[in-house]
Amino acid sequence: MNILLIEDESQIADFVCSGLRSRGFEVQHCENGQQGYELALKGGFDAIVLDLMLPGRDGLDVLKGLRAQDVQTPVILLTARNELGDRLTGLGLGADDYLAKPFFVEELAARIQALLRRLSGERQNHLQVGPVLLDRIERSAKVSGQLIELTTREFKLLEYLMRSAGQVFTRAQILEHVWGYDFDPSTNVVDVCIKRIRAKLASGEVGDAAATPQCIESVRGTGYRFRVEP
Ligand code: CA
Repeated sequence: MNILLIEDESQIADFVCSGLRSRGFEVQHCENGQQGYELALKGGFDAIVLDLMLPGRDGLDVLKGLRAQDVQTPVILLTARNELGDRLTGLGLGADDYLAKPFFVEELAARIQALLRRLSGERQNHLQVGPVLLDRIERSAKVSGQLIELTTREFKLLEYLMRSAGQVFTRAQILEHVWGYDFDPSTNVVDVCIKRIRAKLASGEVGDAAATPQCIESVRGTGYRFRVEP
């Protein structure tokens, strides 16, 4: 994770830099508000740790400028005890969190991680229908908690059906979405791929796989759909 630290007090900057680096973060440090703003504008940071009182440009103004430029990189403000008003203003301007000085670097690292986890929206990355759980970030699939190996194509097809579970898709729709170009409609690649996915899903099922209804149903004469639990 790549962090931009905008902080003019060298003592604080030093311990934050070394503390975060020792925890596996990459840190770029900048001690001037305006330069920090320009760096942040260029992007490429997972989070910005921003001091309030800065030479060049005030921290709140940096924050305001970034949000006005639609830079949505998460920002954690570093505030002094007597800066409660600024802290509230900062949250109003779109800061994601704040930390009052003095603080432990462990606390800052934990806040950054919590923030990034929260923002990555774990719920959005996970798609679950019935016993099947897809993790779109890791591109992994589990059936009843058991990991199964899918190829990129198989994952894409399964995700496509699961995203609109219950809806029937024709072979042509599946072809176009998963393979991305116009195949000969008489090709059986979809059926072959579905067959492989079914076998893998069945292998992950706990208990008697044969007794478990198919997650992917064939709809005669039309195509396929992912079964929604009754
Ligand atoms: Ca300062």
